[in-house]
Parts: sequence; structure tokens; C-alpha cells
Amino acid sequence: MSAYIATNDRYGRMPYRRCGHSGLLLPAISFGLWHNFSAHDSYENCRNLIFTAFDEGITHFDLANNYGPPPGFAEQTMGFILNEELKPYRDEIIISTKAGYEMWEGPYGNWGSRKYLFASMDASLKRLGLSYVDIFYSHRYDPHTPLKETMTALHHLVTSGKALYVGISNYPDKQASMAINLLNQLGTKCLIHQTKYSMLERTAERGLLNTLDSNGVGCIAFSPLAQGLLTDKYLNGIPDNSRAAKKHTALKPELVTESLIDKLKALNGIAAKREQSLAQMAVSWLLKDSRITSVLIGASRIDQIHECAKAAHQSGFSMQEVTEIETILGNSQ
Ligand code: NDP
Repeated sequence: MSAYIATNDRYGRMPYRRCGHSGLLLPAISFGLWHNFSAHDSYENCRNLIFTAFDEGITHFDLANNYGPPPGFAEQTMGFILNEELKPYRDEIIISTKAGYEMWEGPYGNWGSRKYLFASMDASLKRLGLSYVDIFYSHRYDPHTPLKETMTALHHLVTSGKALYVGISNYPDKQASMAINLLNQLGTKCLIHQTKYSMLERTAERGLLNTLDSNGVGCIAFSPLAQGLLTDKYLNGIPDNSRAAKKHTALKPELVTESLIDKLKALNGIAAKREQSLAQMAVSWLLKDSRITSVLIGASRIDQIHECAKAAHQSGFSMQEVTEIETILGNSQ
């Protein structure tokens, strides 16, 4: 394997958006390691996915303590790539990780206690081979831990230098608002909220996006392709090697219904008129909203990254296109 050298023109390829009212710019498209970075995946492919993303100007890589399987494996792989191959580029890269789902047995390996967040952060840093992460998230709202305890732990992770910024993920609108206020009172701004948002998943529109915008908090949309449904992949059923065909993934084959395929085919027709693929239109559709800082994609192959990256430059939609899309999705007024 020859040493990796990043492309010279990478920063001309990707637009960057300011993350809320902060000094941090994030790429319009970020790359996540939830899938395809397990112990069963080829290291060569993992490495190529990361390099391809970085060459496209994707400077932000998103992880969590539990990404694998086994949990922690994605951080370990990213740590290896970072330290063996990307070391000269560390200051050009934003690494995020999270804690909030089950990581180890017993009462201290899950949810939002200070005990769990501190131990998990140290374990993540060890796996990543880093002395700090750029963004650390509380991965989900914990209804049983006082929110002030979780937010104070995030604040102290910043003051201890282990995280440069902190964010929240999967917090409902009301709890997000409370978390943002608590962090403000502590003197550490909530940088960003990571939420599920795509043409097929619209919960964020019911208050959360406005809450974040009015508080100067960025928003990064995960599963923008609805795990691959919003691509041309499932137009003729479930192909081998797709996420829906694999066991133990969150994309259950029963979700690929005839009525969904009809909608995807109609959306694909609009995308074709825009001279885009359906995947590209799904990414562009999110980027048309200035409240979205970044669209957080996943990929199993490098061509998927190249394809999605092109969408960062085509975020304009006509009123007619927007109306047609909403009609297909059954959201028309
Ligand atoms: P996407 O909706 O982008 O789905 C990615 C999958 O879609 C790929 O793995 C691939 O699946 C398929 N795909 C991607 N591009 C194309 C293309 N151009 N043509 C055809 N198929 C394509 O995102 P993910 O669901 O993977 O989530 C992205 C990231 O978001 C995660 O890695 C993670 O960082 C974050 N996330 C955060 C969560 C949270 O709780 N905070 C929860 C979930 C995700 P295939 O294998 O079929 O090729």
C-alpha cells in the first residue's frame, strides 16, 4: 500500500457551511461510519472510503462509541487510518463521536450519566488514538438522568480539553431546547444537533429545525438517503449486497413495500428531469434549507461517495419541483 496523499483541489470541490453561531465550518456533506466499518468489512475498502471522502473535500467524519460490530470497531479502524495515514491532515479533519447507547454491562455503560460519559470518552479517545475529539455528542436523551447532569458532563468534557465542541443527538424538540439552555448557562454552547432527516422522515420539521435555528445551533441530518431507500437501488426490489439484504441492520426488508417503490420511481423521474440521480436529489433536497449545516451520508462503495458529493453544488429547487415532490410523498396541502 502506497502512502496516501490528498488531492490538491479538494477544497474547491465542497461548499462549507457555518455551524450555527460558531466559528466552525462543516462540509455540506459529511461522512459517517455507522455501517461498513465492522470487523467483517475489508480494511482496504474502509481506507478507500475515508480517502475518497477526504479527496472530495469531506472533512468531517462521524462516529459513535458503539459503531461496529463489535462496538468500538469503527473507532478503532478510524484511529488506525488517522494515525497511520492521515496524521499530516489531523488539523484539517473534524472527528465526532458519541455516547448514549449500551456499551458495556452493568448500570454504568449506557444512557446519560456523568459516570458513563466520562468513561466512554476516555475509551473512545484510546480507540481513536487521539488526545481530543472535535465534537462529542450525547447520543440520546436519557429520561432518567437529570438533564443538568448530562449537560454538565458535556461542559466538563470541553473544559478538560477532551472535546472541542459538544452536541446532542436524537433529542426531541422540547428536551433539545432545555439542553441548549442548560449548556448556555454553563458557558459551553451547544454546537450542533444530529437528527434523522430525509424526504421520507420529516419529524425534524415539526419544531426542532426552528428551535435550533433560533438558538444558533447547527443541524446535521443523518440517514439522508433513508439508509439507501432514496437511491435507485431498490427501484426493482432488494438487490444482493444492499443494506436491506443484510442481516442485523436497521433497514428491514419489509420496509421496501410496493407503495414505497412506486413513490421512489416517481421521485426518480423528477431527479432525472433535474439531471440528477435519486440519491443526489435526496441530498440536494436537504441542502436547499439553510438551517441544515451538513448532510451526513454513509456509503459501502467509493462511487456512492463521488455520486453524493456532486449534489452539494445543486441545492436549488423550483417551486414546481418542491410541490411535485410533496405530492408524491403525500404531503401536499
Ligand atoms: P444514508 O441514508 O446515507 O445511507 C447510506 C447507505 O445508502 C449506504 O451505506 C449504501 O447502502 C446506500 N447508498 C449510499 N449512497 C448511495 C448511492 N449513491 N447509490 C445507491 N446506494 C447508496 O446514511 P446512513 O443511514 O448510513 O447514516 C449515515 C451516518 O449518519 C451514519 O454513518 C452515522 O454517522 C450517522 N447516524 C447517526 C445516528 C444517530 O443516532 N445519531 C443514527 C444513524 C446514522 P448499501 O450498503 O445498500 O450500498
